[in-house]
Amino acid sequence: WTSRDLPWTKNLEVYNKIVFGNNSFRPNQREIINATMSGYDVFVLMPTGGGKSLTYQLPALLCAGITLVISPLVSLIQDQIMNLLQTNISAASLSAGMEWAEQLEILQELSSENSKYKLLYVTPEKVAKSESLLRHLEILNSRSLLARFVIDEAHCVSQWGHDFRPDYQGLGVLKQKFPNIPMLALTATATASVKEDVVQALGLVNCVVFRQSFNRPNLWYSVVPKTNKCLEDIDKFIRENHFDECGIIYCLSRMDCEKVTETLRAFGHKAAFYHGSMDPGKRAFVQKQWSKDEINIICATVAFGMGINKPDVRFVIHHSLPKSIEGYHQECGRAGRDGQRSSCVLYYSYTDYIRVKHMISQGGLGQGQMKMGYNCKASSGRMLETNTENLLRMVSYCENEVDCRRFLQLVHLGEKFDSTNCKNTCDNCSSSKILIDKDVTVIARQLVELVKLTGERFSSAHIVEVYRGSLNQSVKRNRQETLHLHGAGKHLTKSEASRILHYLVTEDILAEGVRKSDLYGSISSLLKVNRSKAASLLSGGQSITMRFPSTI
Ligand code: ADP
Ligand code: ZN
Repeated sequence: WTSRDLPWTKNLEVYNKIVFGNNSFRPNQREIINATMSGYDVFVLMPTGGGKSLTYQLPALLCAGITLVISPLVSLIQDQIMNLLQTNISAASLSAGMEWAEQLEILQELSSENSKYKLLYVTPEKVAKSESLLRHLEILNSRSLLARFVIDEAHCVSQWGHDFRPDYQGLGVLKQKFPNIPMLALTATATASVKEDVVQALGLVNCVVFRQSFNRPNLWYSVVPKTNKCLEDIDKFIRENHFDECGIIYCLSRMDCEKVTETLRAFGHKAAFYHGSMDPGKRAFVQKQWSKDEINIICATVAFGMGINKPDVRFVIHHSLPKSIEGYHQECGRAGRDGQRSSCVLYYSYTDYIRVKHMISQGGLGQGQMKMGYNCKASSGRMLETNTENLLRMVSYCENEVDCRRFLQLVHLGEKFDSTNCKNTCDNCSSSKILIDKDVTVIARQLVELVKLTGERFSSAHIVEVYRGSLNQSVKRNRQETLHLHGAGKHLTKSEASRILHYLVTEDILAEGVRKSDLYGSISSLLKVNRSKAASLLSGGQSITMRFPSTI
């Protein structure tokens, strides 16, 4: 896909320079453009700030017809359209809040012979719920004026992801109705299972996948125990490391955002809060103040993030536990887009875990998860399981005092990372803690046997429960308290046991798969044994050593 000898190559270069003002292409941009312009379905995994927009905006200018872009938020769409206007490209958008007459006018302009629009941005519910849009797409298609579908933030399709939006699931209709129109799916976050899920749900055929390393060498990661002096700690951290610099503090609730803001202001910082229940005018105002550097710290819920393009965010602090590793990775990714050194500090307490777990069980995960509609009740059990599983992975990340933070995040995103490349830029790699090697062969073997014994139908969190001798409902329902390995690992802490289990996944001895429930297509993870890789461990031919903090 690196070819510079395609019919569009010359125009590509010219438009990139003249229209977009770029001197060259960033990694993978040319390849992605070549693939989508050759008519393939393409799946792109590229970190935030990598330059995904160009990969469809440039083809949109070069191809005849309209490029339909599906994007999750009206505010994101407005941002994009404004950016395009600055480059003299006119793009249109349709969203639920618009007058019908206005929408009709846009649709008519689009189907005219010389439409001034090359791109049409819509929110996903427009596709899922608006017959008239689909009818117009059919008309465009019949006149060969439908160039391409672009699904931005494609991970929102997957219930397995951290930002599921039910309306995204309706996007499968596009490929059903228009099998010949190339589709380009873009995301900055996806584990292997999310990717599979997205590919299936959208109906992508033989798609070309581009992924690049999600490692961000300029971000420094650490996890700090959260005490009741947390705000003083944050104040001190900012003063000592990033005074007067720009940063985001992610908080769990709206109340937390306001409380943290108030305290930081009292400490003399220029802080403001930002959350979902503020009116849009106020939100836009805060965002503007922030981009103009009139305030430098934003205390926000995860509602603040997508579409934030500020290049000089020097720190991202998590005042409480993020809900998943993927989400965490992406939130941290908003720091240091300019490549300069930036800090990501997570304040962790077990109490927060209980709080987040409670929110999850109340369905308080936001973003439409409760707007499931027809299958809400039926699948909410599974959804709860998925969310809890994601949260537990986050907990074991926080409780891990040994492994490289980059390694842990990247492994979760399906990427191998050699932690010697971290070069002491995370707390664990730079720790002076004494570590000792321990032989965990017996434990590893027992865990693999337990996964087998229970029929390869359970999540890692569940296997840890059984291994440590839990008598919780789920263990009892499956009559696992009678297994000979039930309780065999009761001498281990939860985080030790799950660390060993996850290590086996990184060594390919165990694999994490996806389970779809037949009825509702909802998803949870399960552990499987990779027979060939596990053989030598099970037969006594392989031993496994891991490093643990010395307790002496
Ligand atoms: P993403 O959507 O992957 O987060 P964007 O598409 O918003 O990233 O691009 C991030 C920034 O990089 C934007 O300011 C964009 O103008 C800039 N950019 C993209 N491609 C290039 C390029 N080839 N050369 C220089 N700047 C680029
Ligand atoms: Zn490290």
